[in-house]
Amino acid sequence: MVIGVLKSKNDTLVALVPKVITKLINEEAQILIETEAGLKSNYKDSAYEEVGAKIVSRSEIFSDSDIILTFSDIEVEEVPLINKEAYLIGKFNTGIDSELKTAFITNETNVFDLDLLPRSTIAQSMDVLSALASLSGYKAVVLAADNYSGYFPMMTTSAGTVPPAKVMILGAGVAGLQAIATARRLGGSVEAFDVRSSVKEEVQSLGARFIEVEGAQEDTKAGGYAIEQSEEYIQKQKELIHQTAIKADVVITSANIPNKKAPLLIEKRTIEQMKPGSVVIDMASATGGNVELSENNKSIEINGVRIIGDSRLFNQMGTQASHFYANNLYNFLKFTFKDGFAGIPYESEIVSKTLLQIKEKISTVN
Ligand code: NAD
Repeated sequence: MVIGVLKSKNDTLVALVPKVITKLINEEAQILIETEAGLKSNYKDSAYEEVGAKIVSRSEIFSDSDIILTFSDIEVEEVPLINKEAYLIGKFNTGIDSELKTAFITNETNVFDLDLLPRSTIAQSMDVLSALASLSGYKAVVLAADNYSGYFPMMTTSAGTVPPAKVMILGAGVAGLQAIATARRLGGSVEAFDVRSSVKEEVQSLGARFIEVEGAQEDTKAGGYAIEQSEEYIQKQKELIHQTAIKADVVITSANIPNKKAPLLIEKRTIEQMKPGSVVIDMASATGGNVELSENNKSIEINGVRIIGDSRLFNQMGTQASHFYANNLYNFLKFTFKDGFAGIPYESEIVSKTLLQIKEKISTVN
């Protein structure tokens, strides 16, 4: 089995790190790495060569691999270069229609899209989304602390005592919970909100106050994810969030609904009434944003409020993120190819949900 790793163009992550390669080589795999694939995450070509991988060009990865691993960068024009028998594995967001998805289907490429992995116990060790969200949640707080012009913890000094920073976190999924935990460790006073009332206890167990808005709709069939809310609920929620945000020093938003535009939670009027020197980090900026004035991949200042829009904060922790991603991929490979290409467990939820061609074929038949 020849496993090739493509270099990411837009992200800092690399799909395999030397430690994981050693395990794969011990299991009889051959590893090809595109030149400088790991450079942005601090893994040099020489480190890969030391563990037995071969450094090759991008075109050799396409022509010589049985399995191609990438984070999420692949150009539409490159899809025809992928061998029909090969398997491409990465994060491609094919849950939404895109040019890339069309190219995969047209070229009959065998694609495993890890964005579609079920959030089940068995898939936990492969759960790329959770690993990345956890990194991003941590980084959001560190970034906020760096941009905030005050202390996070309560501080008693010769010049007086300052209260802890007031931190508000919207969306208490994987990223939000990590953000709460990190902000608490830094000594902030944290309030958090999520439409899923089931997270209330988790929020409280991390030492934060749960902001409650009555009347949220939840759906047990949504796989642990949130669903869209009624107009009445949205208005009630907006008002309470507005009142809490204008007193906060730091607001971090991470609210998402899979394959939908992110809910708008912080309005323009809220930013206008926030304290100068406060910081807003919008982690949903790539899907429309939770913050009305945020701009994706930009740091802007409005009335003295710093607003940072970044949905890929894990990129600022490329070494750690690559280590997690490589482990997730290793577990995915072990599950999917443990009996070789002839023994792929198509009936399993992990394979049937992530393998694009199967799903498309099934939906065409139906
Ligand atoms: P996500 O990134 O889709 O959303 C982040 C959070 O935003 C969610 O908690 C969601 O409820 C919240 N949200 C959506 N709309 C909102 C609104 N209008 N206002 C406030 N908050 C809003 O979700 P995620 O973090 O990837 O995961 C969500 C959940 O999935 C987890 O908390 C967990 O229950 C489940 N999960 C399960 C597993 C597993 O079993 N292996 C792994 C990871 C996640």
